[in-house]
Amino acid sequence: MPGKGIIAVISGFSGAGKGTVVNELVNKYGYAVSISATTRPPREGEEEGKNYFFKTKEEFKQMVKEGRFMEYARYVDNYYGTPKDYVYSQINNGRDVLLEIEMQGAMQVKKNFPDVTLVFITPPHVAELKRRLLKRGTETEDIINKRIARAAEECSYMKDYDYIIVNDGLEECVEQVHCLLTALHFTKNNQQQLIEDISRDFKGYNG
Ligand code: 5GP
Repeated sequence: MPGKGIIAVISGFSGAGKGTVVNELVNKYGYAVSISATTRPPREGEEEGKNYFFKTKEEFKQMVKEGRFMEYARYVDNYYGTPKDYVYSQINNGRDVLLEIEMQGAMQVKKNFPDVTLVFITPPHVAELKRRLLKRGTETEDIINKRIARAAEECSYMKDYDYIIVNDGLEECVEQVHCLLTALHFTKNNQQQLIEDISRDFKGYNG
């Protein structure tokens, strides 16, 4: 029987490269990644049930009403939320689950699920952030400027995260996050079962 998986939030400014880091963690190390629901229209190449569950505003509101989200937030004119079902089924099967979500949502998770670890990924400086957003080429200049303005506000959330990692090179960043998440399995909170088992073992030992 595998131990329970851990849940980690991965956030960062839009364009910090966290999506690429998360993809690498999935491909290289087999992490599960939560699939969010959103009211944002699909970008070219995005698939229903793979990148997101694409919802109308009405459908999203209904899910909120039914308490089906671990958290949800409004981000640049659209709503995004983490459905509970998938995350719970994965950790119960012993898989570690990553939640790639923005900061308001992360703060809700921190408040309501204190065992979840919050990791913040940042580029080394703002010029690099703009360069990455422009390179991605999926947003208009107007949206990019909105995202940079939002990032400036988001700086204030960094201090509320448990770990801050600079993404100044994909491979190194992926290794750092993976080492960090591996270590989390050994915290005393995540070793409660082991503590109980060893204690029971000593009690029953008479040889
Ligand atoms: P994008 O539109 O670029 O796919 O995502 C915009 C932002 O929404 C990103 O910062 C992304 O991490 C965040 N996001 C994606 N899914 C969720 C979610 O389920 N909840 C919250 N709070 N943010 C999310």
